[in-house]
Amino acid sequence: MKNLSDINFKNKKALVRVDFNVPVENKSVTDNTRIKAALPTINTILNNGGTVILMSHRGRPKGRDENLSLRVIVPEIEKLLGKKIQFIDDAIGEKVQKKIKSLQPGEVLLLENLRFYPEETQGDKNFAKELAKNGDIYVNDAFGTAHRAHASTAIVADFFDTNHKALGKLMEQEVKSIQKALDHGEKPVTAIIGGAKISSKIDVIKNLLNKVDNLIIVGGMAYTFLKALGNKIGNSIVEDDKIDVAKEIMKEAKKKGVNLILPVDFVIADKFRNDAHTKIVAADKIPDSWQGLDIGPETIKKISKIIENSKTIIWNGPAGVFEFDKFAKGTESIGKAIGKATKNGAYSLVGGGDSVAAIQKLGLENQVSYISTGGGVLLDMLAGKKLPGLEALK
Ligand code: AMP
Repeated sequence: MKNLSDINFKNKKALVRVDFNVPVENKSVTDNTRIKAALPTINTILNNGGTVILMSHRGRPKGRDENLSLRVIVPEIEKLLGKKIQFIDDAIGEKVQKKIKSLQPGEVLLLENLRFYPEETQGDKNFAKELAKNGDIYVNDAFGTAHRAHASTAIVADFFDTNHKALGKLMEQEVKSIQKALDHGEKPVTAIIGGAKISSKIDVIKNLLNKVDNLIIVGGMAYTFLKALGNKIGNSIVEDDKIDVAKEIMKEAKKKGVNLILPVDFVIADKFRNDAHTKIVAADKIPDSWQGLDIGPETIKKISKIIENSKTIIWNGPAGVFEFDKFAKGTESIGKAIGKATKNGAYSLVGGGDSVAAIQKLGLENQVSYISTGGGVLLDMLAGKKLPGLEALK
């Protein structure tokens, strides 16, 4: 697989798939993280004498929908890139190809939202073939959609030979950083997995059992494990149809010698609200009609110690309902412990919207080794799945 430094872009047209699915309010971009993340790739190609043709999806339109046009993000790209770019209101066809032909080295063109075509998400071969006509070289830098076999993220690559396709800088950095924690981590390796439900992370947990020394389960999913052990969990969130899976995971952990850690106490509440009455109780003593909304102080102490003694740390998912200040302490404590471990030389990987939000809220962005921009794609990598967007470049 080639990266940008293996390819000479001089006088070449590079068709670059980026993830510019950014939030927009009142016609302006409210979070430009994803645009910023693509800049190193765009600038590398331009500095190398190439032309950049950008393509992305935005939202989930059903056919052409002006409200989801990519035109609105042009000013934000121009601001970040520090130069004017061009926009065309289509993604394939003669008009697009004519425009591309007229572009000079150093110029940038943004194509219209790929999902205006239903063929994009269907991974349609003919649509991908049409897209491929838009460039001499294909670059995939859309890490956020690399787990999808869509026309522009994977199928289009079939129309370029190995010397004319490459992974972009963001993709390269994300994949390397995640693999470093997952496959080459110095021991002891600890994963902290939280979030609402076990069902969305079963494959992740199962794969991590082959990779880690300590697996810490927090958040809503912990109650399914505790119920599987026969604990009373009151009104806490639970997935009864996953109790057998939880049992199987605990059995596997034992067999593989993985230290699986569940919360030993909780902050419980009499309702799902920030102004609820709260109590701290042991994990097996949640009364009926109360629900656990955060891990308790004993759990925080126990897992902080494990995290601080780790050399590699992977964190995905909050320890409680951190959106309510009253139940954010567990999640914040995990962030702090990871910050401390990192300062002492550990390698830490944090990913997933909620964990990243917690790190940002605490101002710990610079105290963890790597923050992944990926959501679903990160979970797929942690689950050990192959990414179509990456495989297609091989
Ligand atoms: P996920 O998207 O699976 O990572 O789940 C994130 C969500 O899990 C957040 O919105 C949290 O509020 C929620 N969550 C975490 N702990 C609990 C809990 N004990 N009860 C209910 N929801 C929870």
